[in-house]
Amino acid sequence: MDLYEHQARELFEEHGILVPRAEVTDSPKEARGIARRLGGRAVVKAQVKTGGRGKAGGVKLAADPAAAELTARQILGMDIKGHTVRKVMLAQPVDIEDEFYVSYVLDRAAGHFLAIASAEGGMDIEEVAASRPDAVARIPVDPAEGVTSAKAAEIAEAAGLPPQTVDVLVRLWEVLTREDALLVEVNPLVRTAQGRILALDGKVTLDDNARFRQERWGEKDAPHDDPLEAAAAARGLNYVKLDGEVGVIGNGAGLVMSTLDVVAGCGARPANFLDIGGGASARIMADGLSVVLSDPAVKSVLVNVFGGITACDAVAEGIVQALESVRLTKPLVVRLDGNNAVRGRAVLDDRAHPLVHQATTMDGAARRAARLATAD
Ligand code: GDP
Ligand code: MN
Repeated sequence: MDLYEHQARELFEEHGILVPRAEVTDSPKEARGIARRLGGRAVVKAQVKTGGRGKAGGVKLAADPAAAELTARQILGMDIKGHTVRKVMLAQPVDIEDEFYVSYVLDRAAGHFLAIASAEGGMDIEEVAASRPDAVARIPVDPAEGVTSAKAAEIAEAAGLPPQTVDVLVRLWEVLTREDALLVEVNPLVRTAQGRILALDGKVTLDDNARFRQERWGEKDAPHDDPLEAAAAARGLNYVKLDGEVGVIGNGAGLVMSTLDVVAGCGARPANFLDIGGGASARIMADGLSVVLSDPAVKSVLVNVFGGITACDAVAEGIVQALESVRLTKPLVVRLDGNNAVRGRAVLDDRAHPLVHQATTMDGAARRAARLATAD
Protein backbone atom coordinates (compact mmCIF):
# COMPACT_ATOMS: atom_id res chain seq x y z
CA MET A 1 0.00 0.00 0.00
CA ASP A 2 1.15 3.51 -0.82
CA LEU A 3 1.32 6.16 1.86
CA TYR A 4 0.24 9.75 1.43
CA GLU A 5 2.96 12.36 1.22
CA HIS A 6 2.16 13.61 4.73
CA GLN A 7 2.52 10.07 6.10
CA ALA A 8 5.84 9.59 4.30
CA ARG A 9 6.92 12.94 5.71
CA GLU A 10 6.03 11.73 9.21
CA LEU A 11 8.18 8.60 8.74
CA PHE A 12 11.11 10.61 7.41
CA GLU A 13 10.89 12.89 10.41
CA GLU A 14 10.84 9.93 12.80
CA HIS A 15 14.05 8.67 11.24
CA GLY A 16 15.80 11.99 11.55
CA ILE A 17 15.48 13.20 7.98
CA LEU A 18 14.80 16.94 7.85
CA VAL A 19 11.41 17.89 6.43
CA PRO A 20 9.63 21.23 6.21
CA ARG A 21 7.18 22.07 9.00
CA ALA A 22 3.73 21.07 7.79
CA GLU A 23 0.14 20.30 8.80
CA VAL A 24 -2.72 18.52 7.08
CA THR A 25 -6.36 19.59 6.82
CA ASP A 26 -9.55 19.06 4.84
CA SER A 27 -10.86 22.54 5.56
CA PRO A 28 -9.93 25.79 3.77
CA LYS A 29 -10.64 27.76 6.98
CA GLU A 30 -8.19 25.63 8.91
CA ALA A 31 -5.70 26.07 6.07
CA ARG A 32 -5.70 29.77 6.83
CA GLY A 33 -4.87 29.10 10.49
CA ILE A 34 -2.13 26.65 9.56
CA ALA A 35 -0.53 29.15 7.19
CA ARG A 36 -0.57 31.69 10.00
CA ARG A 37 1.18 29.22 12.31
CA LEU A 38 3.76 28.49 9.60
CA GLY A 39 4.64 32.15 9.41
CA GLY A 40 2.20 33.38 6.76
CA ARG A 41 3.42 31.86 3.49
CA ALA A 42 2.73 28.22 2.73
CA VAL A 43 2.99 25.66 -0.04
CA VAL A 44 -0.45 24.08 -0.38
CA LYS A 45 -0.17 20.48 -1.57
CA ALA A 46 -2.88 18.06 -2.66
CA GLN A 47 -2.71 14.77 -0.76
CA VAL A 48 -3.38 12.11 -3.36
CA LYS A 49 -1.64 8.82 -3.97
CA THR A 50 -0.32 9.70 -7.40
CA GLY A 51 2.65 11.61 -8.74
CA GLY A 52 2.76 14.69 -10.92
CA ARG A 53 0.67 16.77 -8.57
CA GLY A 54 2.75 19.85 -9.28
CA LYS A 55 2.07 19.71 -13.01
CA ALA A 56 -1.61 19.05 -12.42
CA GLY A 57 -1.96 22.21 -10.34
CA GLY A 58 -2.03 20.39 -7.03
CA VAL A 59 1.02 22.17 -5.54
CA LYS A 60 0.73 25.93 -5.13
CA LEU A 61 2.53 28.61 -3.19
CA ALA A 62 0.31 30.90 -1.14
CA ALA A 63 1.73 34.27 -0.15
CA ASP A 64 -0.34 34.77 3.00
CA PRO A 65 -3.00 33.06 5.14
CA ALA A 66 -5.91 34.45 3.10
CA ALA A 67 -4.32 33.16 -0.11
CA ALA A 68 -3.72 29.80 1.60
CA GLU A 69 -7.43 29.52 2.36
CA LEU A 70 -8.33 30.37 -1.22
CA THR A 71 -5.76 27.97 -2.67
CA ALA A 72 -6.85 25.17 -0.34
CA ARG A 73 -10.44 25.77 -1.46
CA GLN A 74 -9.31 25.41 -5.10
CA ILE A 75 -7.25 22.28 -4.56
CA LEU A 76 -9.68 20.43 -2.26
CA GLY A 77 -12.09 18.45 -4.40
CA MET A 78 -9.84 18.70 -7.44
CA ASP A 79 -9.41 15.56 -9.53
CA ILE A 80 -5.81 14.54 -10.15
CA LYS A 81 -5.48 11.56 -12.47
CA GLY A 82 -8.71 10.07 -11.18
CA HIS A 83 -7.93 10.77 -7.51
CA THR A 84 -10.18 13.23 -5.69
CA VAL A 85 -8.28 15.53 -3.34
CA ARG A 86 -9.77 15.15 0.15
CA LYS A 87 -6.91 16.67 2.13
CA VAL A 88 -4.21 19.23 1.61
CA MET A 89 -0.90 19.59 3.38
CA LEU A 90 0.40 23.07 4.07
CA ALA A 91 4.17 23.21 4.29
CA GLN A 92 6.53 25.97 5.19
CA PRO A 93 8.13 27.19 1.94
CA VAL A 94 11.79 26.43 1.45
CA ASP A 95 14.38 28.38 -0.53
CA ILE A 96 15.55 25.75 -2.97
CA GLU A 97 19.14 25.87 -4.19
CA ASP A 98 19.30 22.40 -5.75
CA GLU A 99 16.80 19.61 -6.34
CA PHE A 100 17.93 15.97 -6.19
CA TYR A 101 16.22 12.64 -6.68
CA VAL A 102 16.83 9.62 -4.43
CA SER A 103 15.00 6.34 -4.04
CA TYR A 104 15.38 2.74 -2.96
CA VAL A 105 13.31 0.19 -4.72
CA LEU A 106 13.12 -3.58 -4.61
CA ASP A 107 14.42 -5.12 -7.83
CA ARG A 108 12.57 -8.42 -7.72
CA ALA A 109 14.12 -9.84 -10.86
CA ALA A 110 17.66 -9.21 -9.63
CA GLY A 111 16.96 -10.23 -6.05
CA HIS A 112 18.35 -7.08 -4.50
CA PHE A 113 17.47 -3.47 -3.86
CA LEU A 114 18.38 -0.67 -6.16
CA ALA A 115 19.41 2.82 -5.14
CA ILE A 116 18.39 5.28 -7.85
CA ALA A 117 19.74 8.78 -7.47
CA SER A 118 20.21 11.87 -9.57
CA ALA A 119 21.47 15.40 -9.12
CA GLU A 120 18.66 16.45 -11.45
CA GLY A 121 15.62 15.97 -9.28
CA GLY A 122 12.39 17.88 -9.38
CA MET A 123 9.28 17.13 -11.31
CA ASP A 124 10.49 15.21 -14.34
CA ILE A 125 12.76 12.40 -13.23
CA GLU A 126 11.18 9.95 -15.72
CA GLU A 127 12.02 12.34 -18.52
CA VAL A 128 15.60 12.74 -17.28
CA ALA A 129 15.97 8.98 -17.05
CA ALA A 130 14.69 8.56 -20.61
CA SER A 131 16.57 11.36 -22.34
CA ARG A 132 19.80 11.33 -20.34
CA PRO A 133 20.19 7.97 -18.60
CA ASP A 134 23.73 8.92 -17.54
CA ALA A 135 22.28 11.56 -15.24
CA VAL A 136 20.59 8.85 -13.17
CA ALA A 137 22.77 6.51 -11.11
CA ARG A 138 21.51 3.01 -10.42
CA ILE A 139 23.44 1.21 -7.70
CA PRO A 140 22.54 -2.30 -6.51
CA VAL A 141 22.19 -2.66 -2.75
CA ASP A 142 22.71 -6.05 -1.17
CA PRO A 143 19.80 -6.45 1.28
CA ALA A 144 22.05 -8.25 3.78
CA GLU A 145 24.62 -5.45 3.79
CA GLY A 146 22.24 -2.52 3.46
CA VAL A 147 23.26 1.08 3.07
CA THR A 148 26.19 1.86 5.32
CA SER A 149 27.89 5.25 5.30
CA ALA A 150 30.40 3.88 2.81
CA LYS A 151 27.64 2.60 0.54
CA ALA A 152 25.78 5.89 0.84
CA ALA A 153 28.94 7.76 -0.12
CA GLU A 154 29.26 5.53 -3.18
CA ILE A 155 25.66 6.32 -4.20
CA ALA A 156 26.09 10.07 -3.65
CA GLU A 157 29.34 10.06 -5.60
CA ALA A 158 27.86 8.11 -8.53
CA ALA A 159 24.90 10.48 -8.76
CA GLY A 160 26.86 13.65 -8.19
CA LEU A 161 25.06 14.51 -4.94
CA PRO A 162 26.80 16.65 -2.32
CA PRO A 163 28.41 14.88 0.67
CA GLN A 164 25.72 16.23 3.04
CA THR A 165 23.26 13.79 1.46
CA VAL A 166 25.17 10.73 2.74
CA ASP A 167 23.49 10.88 6.14
CA VAL A 168 20.05 11.19 4.52
CA LEU A 169 20.76 8.17 2.29
CA VAL A 170 21.59 6.06 5.35
CA ARG A 171 18.46 7.21 7.20
CA LEU A 172 16.29 6.63 4.16
CA TRP A 173 17.52 3.05 4.05
CA GLU A 174 16.41 2.74 7.69
CA VAL A 175 12.96 3.94 6.68
CA LEU A 176 12.84 1.27 3.99
CA THR A 177 13.94 -1.62 6.18
CA ARG A 178 12.46 -0.69 9.58
CA GLU A 179 9.08 0.39 8.24
CA ASP A 180 8.49 -2.62 5.98
CA ALA A 181 8.65 -0.59 2.78
CA LEU A 182 9.26 -1.87 -0.74
CA LEU A 183 9.88 1.60 -2.10
CA VAL A 184 10.95 4.92 -0.67
CA GLU A 185 11.40 7.90 -2.93
CA VAL A 186 12.27 11.51 -2.26
CA ASN A 187 11.75 13.92 -5.14
CA PRO A 188 12.87 16.52 -4.64
CA LEU A 189 15.46 16.13 -1.95
CA VAL A 190 16.66 19.72 -1.79
CA ARG A 191 19.63 21.74 -0.70
CA THR A 192 18.42 25.01 0.73
CA ALA A 193 20.10 28.36 0.36
CA GLN A 194 21.36 27.77 3.91
CA GLY A 195 22.95 24.46 2.88
CA ARG A 196 20.51 22.19 4.69
CA ILE A 197 19.27 18.98 3.05
CA LEU A 198 15.48 18.55 3.24
CA ALA A 199 13.03 15.99 1.92
CA LEU A 200 10.37 18.10 0.20
CA ASP A 201 8.23 15.31 -1.21
CA GLY A 202 8.07 11.64 -0.35
CA LYS A 203 6.58 8.45 -1.61
CA VAL A 204 6.59 5.26 0.46
CA THR A 205 5.10 1.95 -0.58
CA LEU A 206 4.66 -0.53 2.25
CA ASP A 207 4.80 -4.28 1.87
CA ASP A 208 1.20 -5.50 2.24
CA ASN A 209 2.47 -8.73 3.80
CA ALA A 210 3.54 -6.66 6.80
CA ARG A 211 0.20 -4.91 7.24
CA PHE A 212 -0.40 -6.64 10.58
CA ARG A 213 2.40 -4.59 12.10
CA GLN A 214 1.63 -1.41 10.18
CA GLU A 215 -1.85 -0.80 11.50
CA ARG A 216 -1.15 2.83 12.24
CA TRP A 217 -1.58 3.62 8.54
CA GLY A 218 -5.15 2.37 8.51
CA GLU A 219 -6.92 0.10 6.12
CA LYS A 220 -5.54 -1.02 2.81
CA ASP A 221 -6.45 1.34 -0.05
CA ALA A 222 -9.67 0.04 -1.44
CA PRO A 223 -10.87 2.19 -4.29
CA HIS A 224 -13.99 0.10 -4.79
CA ASP A 225 -15.49 1.79 -7.79
CA ASP A 226 -17.78 -1.17 -8.23
CA PRO A 227 -20.75 -0.91 -5.83
CA LEU A 228 -20.92 -4.70 -5.42
CA GLU A 229 -17.23 -4.84 -4.48
CA ALA A 230 -17.78 -1.99 -2.06
CA ALA A 231 -20.76 -3.80 -0.49
CA ALA A 232 -18.73 -7.01 -0.22
CA ALA A 233 -15.74 -5.18 1.27
CA ALA A 234 -18.03 -3.60 3.86
CA ARG A 235 -19.01 -7.12 4.94
CA GLY A 236 -15.39 -8.27 4.95
CA LEU A 237 -15.88 -10.61 2.01
CA ASN A 238 -13.22 -11.68 -0.46
CA TYR A 239 -15.18 -10.73 -3.58
CA VAL A 240 -14.19 -9.68 -7.08
CA LYS A 241 -16.78 -8.66 -9.66
CA LEU A 242 -16.45 -10.35 -13.05
CA ASP A 243 -18.41 -10.00 -16.29
CA GLY A 244 -20.52 -13.15 -16.46
CA GLU A 245 -23.88 -14.49 -15.35
CA VAL A 246 -23.10 -17.37 -12.98
CA GLY A 247 -22.59 -16.22 -9.41
CA VAL A 248 -19.91 -18.28 -7.70
CA ILE A 249 -19.45 -18.90 -3.97
CA GLY A 250 -16.89 -21.32 -2.63
CA ASN A 251 -14.55 -21.95 0.27
CA GLY A 252 -10.86 -21.54 -0.42
CA ALA A 253 -9.33 -19.35 -3.10
CA GLY A 254 -7.96 -22.31 -5.07
CA LEU A 255 -11.31 -24.07 -5.16
CA VAL A 256 -13.10 -20.88 -6.19
CA MET A 257 -10.61 -20.23 -8.98
CA SER A 258 -11.01 -23.74 -10.36
CA THR A 259 -14.76 -23.29 -10.10
CA LEU A 260 -14.49 -20.20 -12.32
CA ASP A 261 -12.56 -22.30 -14.86
CA VAL A 262 -15.08 -25.11 -14.79
CA VAL A 263 -17.99 -22.69 -15.25
CA ALA A 264 -16.18 -21.18 -18.23
CA GLY A 265 -15.55 -24.71 -19.54
CA CYS A 266 -19.31 -25.26 -19.51
CA GLY A 267 -19.86 -22.36 -21.87
CA ALA A 268 -21.03 -19.82 -19.28
CA ARG A 269 -19.17 -16.97 -17.66
CA PRO A 270 -18.63 -16.50 -13.94
CA ALA A 271 -20.17 -13.30 -12.55
CA ASN A 272 -17.76 -13.02 -9.65
CA PHE A 273 -15.10 -14.56 -7.47
CA LEU A 274 -16.20 -15.06 -3.86
CA ASP A 275 -14.19 -17.03 -1.35
CA ILE A 276 -16.08 -17.37 1.94
CA GLY A 277 -13.10 -19.04 3.60
CA GLY A 278 -12.60 -22.15 5.66
CA GLY A 279 -14.77 -21.32 8.65
CA ALA A 280 -17.85 -20.25 6.69
CA SER A 281 -20.63 -19.46 9.15
CA ALA A 282 -24.31 -19.00 8.37
CA ARG A 283 -23.74 -15.25 8.70
CA ILE A 284 -20.96 -15.27 6.08
CA MET A 285 -23.02 -17.46 3.77
CA ALA A 286 -25.97 -15.06 4.10
CA ASP A 287 -23.73 -12.06 3.44
CA GLY A 288 -22.17 -13.78 0.44
CA LEU A 289 -25.51 -14.83 -1.00
CA SER A 290 -27.01 -11.38 -0.60
CA VAL A 291 -24.08 -9.71 -2.39
CA VAL A 292 -24.07 -12.24 -5.24
CA LEU A 293 -27.86 -12.15 -5.64
CA SER A 294 -27.91 -8.36 -5.71
CA ASP A 295 -25.85 -8.45 -8.90
CA PRO A 296 -28.43 -7.90 -11.67
CA ALA A 297 -26.22 -9.78 -14.15
CA VAL A 298 -26.43 -12.99 -12.11
CA LYS A 299 -28.84 -15.60 -13.56
CA SER A 300 -27.87 -18.55 -11.36
CA VAL A 301 -25.61 -19.14 -8.39
CA LEU A 302 -23.19 -21.98 -7.89
CA VAL A 303 -22.15 -22.79 -4.33
CA ASN A 304 -19.16 -25.10 -4.38
CA VAL A 305 -18.01 -26.20 -0.94
CA PHE A 306 -15.49 -28.78 0.08
CA GLY A 307 -16.01 -29.54 3.75
CA GLY A 308 -12.76 -29.57 5.66
CA ILE A 309 -12.49 -27.71 8.93
CA THR A 310 -16.10 -26.65 8.49
CA ALA A 311 -18.20 -29.76 7.90
CA CYS A 312 -20.73 -29.79 5.05
CA ASP A 313 -23.70 -30.10 7.39
CA ALA A 314 -22.67 -26.85 9.09
CA VAL A 315 -22.40 -25.17 5.68
CA ALA A 316 -25.81 -26.59 4.70
CA GLU A 317 -27.29 -25.25 7.94
CA GLY A 318 -25.71 -21.94 7.02
CA ILE A 319 -27.40 -21.97 3.61
CA VAL A 320 -30.75 -22.86 5.22
CA GLN A 321 -30.38 -20.03 7.72
CA ALA A 322 -29.29 -17.67 4.97
CA LEU A 323 -32.48 -18.52 3.08
CA GLU A 324 -34.45 -17.09 6.00
CA SER A 325 -32.85 -13.66 5.70
CA VAL A 326 -32.13 -13.54 1.97
CA ARG A 327 -34.99 -13.94 -0.47
CA LEU A 328 -33.83 -16.34 -3.15
CA THR A 329 -34.80 -15.01 -6.57
CA LYS A 330 -32.50 -17.04 -8.77
CA PRO A 331 -31.70 -20.75 -8.92
CA LEU A 332 -29.00 -21.94 -6.54
CA VAL A 333 -26.94 -25.01 -7.40
CA VAL A 334 -25.12 -26.48 -4.41
CA ARG A 335 -22.34 -28.98 -4.51
CA LEU A 336 -21.24 -30.24 -1.13
CA ASP A 337 -18.39 -32.69 -0.79
CA GLY A 338 -15.89 -33.71 1.84
CA ASN A 339 -16.44 -33.81 5.58
CA ASN A 340 -20.07 -34.81 6.42
CA ALA A 341 -21.23 -34.35 2.81
CA VAL A 342 -24.06 -36.87 3.10
CA ARG A 343 -25.47 -35.19 6.18
CA GLY A 344 -25.11 -31.79 4.54
CA ARG A 345 -27.04 -32.87 1.46
CA ALA A 346 -29.77 -34.29 3.70
CA VAL A 347 -30.12 -30.93 5.45
CA LEU A 348 -30.75 -29.20 2.09
CA ASP A 349 -33.09 -32.00 0.95
CA ASP A 350 -35.14 -31.50 4.11
CA ARG A 351 -35.41 -27.78 3.46
CA ALA A 352 -36.69 -28.60 -0.05
CA HIS A 353 -36.50 -25.05 -1.38
CA PRO A 354 -37.86 -25.01 -4.96
CA LEU A 355 -34.96 -22.94 -6.27
CA VAL A 356 -32.19 -24.96 -4.59
CA HIS A 357 -30.68 -27.74 -6.69
CA GLN A 358 -28.00 -30.16 -5.57
CA ALA A 359 -25.23 -31.82 -7.51
CA THR A 360 -22.62 -34.26 -6.25
CA THR A 361 -19.72 -33.30 -8.50
CA MET A 362 -18.13 -29.98 -9.35
CA ASP A 363 -18.51 -30.59 -13.10
CA GLY A 364 -22.13 -31.59 -12.72
CA ALA A 365 -22.89 -28.56 -10.57
CA ALA A 366 -21.18 -26.20 -12.99
CA ARG A 367 -23.04 -27.68 -15.99
CA ARG A 368 -26.34 -27.27 -14.19
CA ALA A 369 -25.61 -23.70 -13.11
CA ALA A 370 -24.41 -22.81 -16.61
CA ARG A 371 -27.54 -24.28 -18.19
CA LEU A 372 -29.79 -22.41 -15.73
CA ALA A 373 -27.96 -19.17 -16.45
CA THR A 374 -28.05 -19.41 -20.22
CA ALA A 375 -31.59 -20.81 -20.60
CA ASP A 376 -34.04 -18.03 -21.33
P1 GDP B 1 4.84 16.25 -7.25
O1 GDP B 1 4.64 17.10 -8.45
O2 GDP B 1 3.62 15.40 -6.99
O3 GDP B 1 6.08 15.44 -7.30
O4 GDP B 1 4.94 17.25 -5.99
P2 GDP B 1 6.20 17.88 -5.23
O5 GDP B 1 5.91 17.89 -3.81
O6 GDP B 1 7.46 17.21 -5.63
O7 GDP B 1 6.21 19.38 -5.72
C1 GDP B 1 6.47 19.72 -7.06
C2 GDP B 1 7.50 20.82 -7.13
O8 GDP B 1 7.05 21.94 -6.40
C3 GDP B 1 8.83 20.46 -6.51
O9 GDP B 1 9.68 19.78 -7.40
C4 GDP B 1 9.38 21.81 -6.15
O10 GDP B 1 10.07 22.37 -7.26
C5 GDP B 1 8.15 22.66 -5.89
N1 GDP B 1 8.02 22.86 -4.44
C6 GDP B 1 7.43 22.03 -3.55
N2 GDP B 1 7.56 22.51 -2.30
C7 GDP B 1 8.27 23.67 -2.41
C8 GDP B 1 8.77 24.65 -1.49
O11 GDP B 1 8.61 24.56 -0.27
N3 GDP B 1 9.46 25.72 -2.00
C9 GDP B 1 9.68 25.85 -3.33
N4 GDP B 1 10.35 26.91 -3.74
N5 GDP B 1 9.25 24.96 -4.22
C10 GDP B 1 8.56 23.89 -3.77
MN1 MN C 1 7.70 15.19 -6.23
